[in-house]
Amino acid sequence: MVGSALLRRLEAEGFSNLPTRDRSELDLTDEHAVRGFFRQERPDAVIFAAAKVGGIKANSDFPVEFLLDNLRIQNNVIEAAHEIGVRKLLFLGSSCIYPKFAPQPIPETALLTGPLEPTNEAYAVAKIAGIKLCQAFSREYGANFISAMPTNLYGPNDNFDLETSHVLAALLRKAHEAKKSGARQLVVWGTGKPRREFLHVDDAARACLFLLETYDSPEIINVGCGEDIAIRELAELICEVIGFNGELSWDTTKPDGTPRKLLDVTRLKNLGWQPTIPLREGIARTYEWFVKNVAG
Ligand code: GDP
Repeated sequence: MVGSALLRRLEAEGFSNLPTRDRSELDLTDEHAVRGFFRQERPDAVIFAAAKVGGIKANSDFPVEFLLDNLRIQNNVIEAAHEIGVRKLLFLGSSCIYPKFAPQPIPETALLTGPLEPTNEAYAVAKIAGIKLCQAFSREYGANFISAMPTNLYGPNDNFDLETSHVLAALLRKAHEAKKSGARQLVVWGTGKPRREFLHVDDAARACLFLLETYDSPEIINVGCGEDIAIRELAELICEVIGFNGELSWDTTKPDGTPRKLLDVTRLKNLGWQPTIPLREGIARTYEWFVKNVAG
């Protein structure tokens, strides 16, 4: 999702020398293959958007894969990038790196100040290791490796699989299917009380390119829109946009996860960046993409 949004944005800005490989061409967990790719292409800059990602269920069901795959992928890419001397690397982390009960909105300084949310601890620990590796390369070798922490992202090419997706994509699919089948109920996980912040991936891609051009500090920087919404309100908004008029029912056997995850985006704002796609419009655009590309 993030990689394809970055490509759309880079191409729109006129960049053409964009060496990429998809999953079938390059296995990022394979150290030898990753080194070979970097030696062959010798990129100037690297945006590290690749990761094994998943929603609350996948994350808590498969901690081994989330930890091992992500550590392998990022270690391979960051080390190989350093070896060939890339001028700049942007490592993408996640808002789940912050403690479960971090102050809200969460400032960058909250990193490693308390215990993590257990449902995504494995992913968070891998991402924290990635941040620390970038900072270590910066301190020890003077590398310009920066790290951005995006909030919950959504948009074209999101994962719409109900078992492994994040909440926005899952509810979009559920509302679509409920509307199509004439169902009267739509099942939402948890209590609906947790609050999350959502950023359209096209805005996230713009923020990445902005940071590549303007930000040269090893200190992490948050990327978000600065506003959050309760899962209940999100479900209602999605039903409204899609036109499903039935009822919401709550599956409280599923976890709520962290109670609130709103990033403090003062640092990014002060650099002069702000998002452009409001949530309702972003949901409508993503739904259009989903109908065209996934629902068939
Ligand atoms: P998180 O931000 O790491 O907790 O990951 P998710 O995006 O998967 O979940 C966010 C919140 O949405 C949690 O409180 C979930 O319980 C809730 N949620 C409600 N319905 C769904 C659903 O159908 N799928 C997912 N993944 N989460 C849901």
